Amino acid sequence: MHFGITSNPHHDTAGIQHFFEHNLYPDFFQKYTNSKGARLTIRSDGCAGQMKSARHFRWISNFHTYDWNMGHILVWTHTESAHGKDRCDSECGRLKYILRCHEMRHTHEEPTMLQSALEQFEFLDNNHAITRRTLREKKGKGTYYRMFHWMPTKNIRPLSSLAEVHTLSGSVTMKSHFFRNCKHSLKVSVREIACLSCNQCSKHKYRQCENAGFCGYMVERDIKLKSNAREHAAETRNSERVQQEGRERARLVEPGMLVGSECNNETEPYIISIALSGPLVWAGEDGTCWMGGYRKVSINLCS
Ligand SMILES: [Zn+2]
Repeated sequence: MHFGITSNPHHDTAGIQHFFEHNLYPDFFQKYTNSKGARLTIRSDGCAGQMKSARHFRWISNFHTYDWNMGHILVWTHTESAHGKDRCDSECGRLKYILRCHEMRHTHEEPTMLQSALEQFEFLDNNHAITRRTLREKKGKGTYYRMFHWMPTKNIRPLSSLAEVHTLSGSVTMKSHFFRNCKHSLKVSVREIACLSCNQCSKHKYRQCENAGFCGYMVERDIKLKSNAREHAAETRNSERVQQEGRERARLVEPGMLVGSECNNETEPYIISIALSGPLVWAGEDGTCWMGGYRKVSINLCS
């Protein structure tokens, strides 16, 4: 069972997305499995700020476009609000219990207080990766190994940097509990109740579901972006493909070329500069220009 632990207090879809891209896939699926093209079924609660938000649906609809996903097809199902998810619920409760017990043993001579989320992560990772009872004792059922993933706060991008999205067309969000990537960006397949167990659904033929009368039929819904260009730009700049292309283009620059670039700086979004032959030091007097002061300093140029 996998646990993402972070000191980031915002439990939003940006954190979930980060966990998939930077923890679950590189640390587990890519390293230890050969599950190319598999179907990944996620069960989560229906927290509106986290996994039942428009930005999250957009991520589901784009899932097939990410180069790290091993060709997996993503199916995301939600339980009703205020209901347990599955046995990961009790496992997370168990971890909190372990941490509480550990801290209660604290004395001045033998301090056991855990001061930060990172310390909690390290304590669990070093001492509780293997469950107390063996899998044999548990008769092959339950959790055998706990894999902890650390997510530093700063690495998780702010939610506001993800493109803003209107809710799904057709007002289906509240009553739907099944969302599937249909290999079409800005579209997502939706169903009222997630049947994953009938003869057809267990073979992933959701459209021929035997319980369709009860669970509802699959419909496709559009994901409509809000027309806020700045947020598009923020995401475009952060996308791996754009960064890779930028690095490749940067290698072609030669001394004397004029380079137009887009900056992270919101107040100064674009600059034009002249490429130099290498790091140079300003040799003249200190002064000022419209961008601010200039003086002799050493600078680092990124390659
Ligand atoms: Zn079914």
